[in-house]
Formats: sequence, C-alpha cells, structure tokens
Amino acid sequence: MKRTIITAMVILCLLAAVLPSINVSAAAKETKTVRLVVDGTALIYDGSFGKFSFNGKEVNIKKTPTFVFDDTAYINIKKIVLKALPDVTYSFNKKLGRIRITRGDCSIEFYTGSPIIYKNGKAEYTRVAPKFIKQDSDSGNYYLPGRLVFETLGYSYSWDSDKKMSVVKETTATGRIYELHRSGVVLDNKVKPVEGSVSGTLKLDLPEAVTAQDVSITDDVYKNRIFVSVRGDQTAFFESLKIKNKCENCVLQIRDEYRIEDDVTVLTITTQTDSDGLCLLHKDEITSSNLTITFNRASDIYDNIVILDAGHGDSDPGTQNFGIDEKDCNLIIIKLVGKILEKEGIKVFYSRYDDTLIPLRDRAYLGGRLDADMFVSVHHNANNSPEKNGTSVYYSLNNPNVSRGGTITSELMAVTLQEDLIAALGTNDMNVLTIDFTVTKFNNVPSVLIELSYLSNPEECAMSVTDEFRVKAAQTIAQSILKLYQK
Ligand SMILES: [Zn+2]
Repeated sequence: MKRTIITAMVILCLLAAVLPSINVSAAAKETKTVRLVVDGTALIYDGSFGKFSFNGKEVNIKKTPTFVFDDTAYINIKKIVLKALPDVTYSFNKKLGRIRITRGDCSIEFYTGSPIIYKNGKAEYTRVAPKFIKQDSDSGNYYLPGRLVFETLGYSYSWDSDKKMSVVKETTATGRIYELHRSGVVLDNKVKPVEGSVSGTLKLDLPEAVTAQDVSITDDVYKNRIFVSVRGDQTAFFESLKIKNKCENCVLQIRDEYRIEDDVTVLTITTQTDSDGLCLLHKDEITSSNLTITFNRASDIYDNIVILDAGHGDSDPGTQNFGIDEKDCNLIIIKLVGKILEKEGIKVFYSRYDDTLIPLRDRAYLGGRLDADMFVSVHHNANNSPEKNGTSVYYSLNNPNVSRGGTITSELMAVTLQEDLIAALGTNDMNVLTIDFTVTKFNNVPSVLIELSYLSNPEECAMSVTDEFRVKAAQTIAQSILKLYQK
C-alpha cells in the first residue's frame, strides 16, 4: 500500500511540475485513484468505483460510488434508500453510533466500529463493520457491506465484476456452499441464518493413514469457527472428498488449507448462529476413518460456563507504567485463572487469548451468546498520584442478570471476589464499587470488572509482575468463582 501511495504521489507531483496546465484531479481520475479518509485514516484508493442497479435499472451513485475493501463492496446505503427504495427506512443515531435500516418486518442494525450486527434485534457476528469514508468532495458518509444489508432485507444481491456493479433484485436467492476449497479462495456466501433448531451432526471421512492422535479440534467461538487440524498435507484428499452429511442447519462453509510451517492441514468450519443469536459449539468423536462433529448450543453441551476477559489488547495497551503494559498483565492472570477452572470441569471461554483488541461491546455480548453463568474481566489500575494503591471490584447496578438456573448476581460476585482478593493478596481494600462499564452493564450475564492493583504505584507495580502475585491472584479468582457456584 505504501508503495502505491508513494508512486501515486510522485506521478501527481511530476504532472503538476512538468505540466502545470493539467488539472491534477482530472489526472487522478484518469488513473482511477482517489484520496480517501477511511475511519480517520488517509489512504490512496485504487480499487473499483462500483455502480448500483435495482431491478435491472441503474441508480446514479456517481458522487458516492461503491468502494471495495477485502472483496466486500461497501455501499452508501442511505443514498440508495433515498433514490430507489421507498419502502426502506434508514436512520442514524449519532449518540449510540447506530445505523438502522428497516423494510417491513426486517431490520438490520450496525454499530460504528463493531462487527456485531443486529438482525431483527438479535445479534450476530459478521466480520465487517460500517466504514466512514470521506472523499475530497464531501464531508463523509457511512458505507455498509452491500450484500449483508440487501440480503437481510430480503433482496437478492450479486456483484457483476465486468460492469463493477452491485445488482440488487426483489427476489431472494438461497443456496449453500459445502465444497472444500483451497487456501485463498474466497467463498461467495449466500447463506441466510436458519430459523429454529440448529443442532446437528457433520461427518467427514479422514485420510487412511490418519489416526485419532493426528487430529485436533479447537473452537474459535468469537468468530463462529471451528478449526480441525490434521497432520500432513491432506489437501488432495479433502479436495476430492464428498461430504455425506452436510449438517445443513449448522455449517456455512468449510475451507481447507495446508500450513507448511506446522505440517498440518487445517479445515476451517464456519458455523451457523441460531435464531436466538447463540453460536454453535461442538463435541467431537474421532475414529481412524472418520470424524463426527456434533453441533449444539453451549448450554446444551456444558453445565458450567465462565467467560474470562483480559482487558485491553494490541493497539490499546491499557495503563503503561515503568515499561509494563497493563494488557500483558491482564492476559497472564486470565490464562492462569482459566487453567485452574478448566481442571475443575468448568468450561472457560476467553474474549481474547492473545494480543488482539476486541471491541468492548463484542466482549460484553459473549456472555449471552454462550449462555455463560458469569463474566469476569481482569484489569490493573492507575492513578496520577503514585501513592494510590489497592484492589477494587466493579459491577453495574444496571445489570440485573442472574446466572442460569442459579443465584449468582453481579453484586454477589463483586462482594465475594473483593473479600477473597483482599484477604489473599494483602492489598489495600479499595472496596466494591458500582459503575456502568460496557462489560459490566451491557452484559446478559452477571459480570464484574476486577482492578487488581495500581501499576502506577512503584511498589505495587513491582509486586504485581511477580509470579508469586500472579499465581496467588489467579488462584483466588478461580477459588471465588468455584465458591460462587456452590452458593
Ligand atoms: Zn484496564
């Protein structure tokens, strides 16, 4: 991308210097590059300038053409609605950052910066977020993934790559894609969420020489995916494989990819969400000749479910003191807590297990999506005054949820954790406090946010990065959670 920008700039500068009579913006148009500011970041765009047609008739969107990013056509839906779709309404709530589009009984909501959308009020993970795109000629508009919007509203959507045009019609297309594809093939996903039950079973044959030990399966719940790793390069086998049981209600896509560095073939199985917005999890059974994956809701598979949330991540380091990033401290504790709980038979899901940044709303949403009993977020505190020190646990008075079939509330969690942590760590008691953090308030399950210690306090920071402190803190949090289950 850098090279493109530099090349484009050099060409523009040369043209401007050598041929001062040439209009620079006209030259830029000819080479099909424009300057855009996308979500606050300036870039040179050299992709398609997409057109739009509705029921066979082209709609003039020349001033705000469709931009294509990562093979997704982003459309100024507001303009399309105004010009061509009288039965569709478009509204933007600036305070909430919410874009809502409705047609009859169908509605779709986006939140700026979030890949979680709400279809008829129910949430779903989509991998795409609205983009705010500003051209030189305007003050900026929201662009939304066209296929997602139009298919949710009950239209058919296709991309005509010759005409570079989004083709939308008043008929619905259905179709499911189950072939296995080699790495790099982007699948055209026309699948709509299913109504009702989504449990089911997928059966896959395994290559002859493969034994159960050569196969491992992991859930990537946050993205509705399951990874099946099979030792060796098995792509030729999987390419020719016919899937006998397609598990129509559960599986959206299966892709295969050989990872040479690990010598494994990874099948990425993208799963469906059900009409309640819960994602599917799996139970697996591996024999030497085949693999059976049973999909179901989390609560149908696991008795006790806890969401562990390590605060911050990636570009958001949290508080930074004495060369220590809070995000790293949070993750170390969370992983230790998870290990202890897993040994005790509790199913643990992590909002992040590495150095990535997950939007706060998406973290908060995990609890409800996975039918969890509780949500525990771990942070470390900071203050302008280096003297300040101690431990506090926060919950929201606006989160009235109780654990499924149980008696655990956010308040009970906060009180238990605060008492236990103060006693075990010997830190200053900064009390249980109530505050509407996103992860405490907008959570469908009881939720707390723990501020373990002050990294801005030199002594407490030094103590907080020791193995002794971390192990003790993690053991205490895990023990408190187990205690809550017994209450
Ligand atoms: Zn924090």
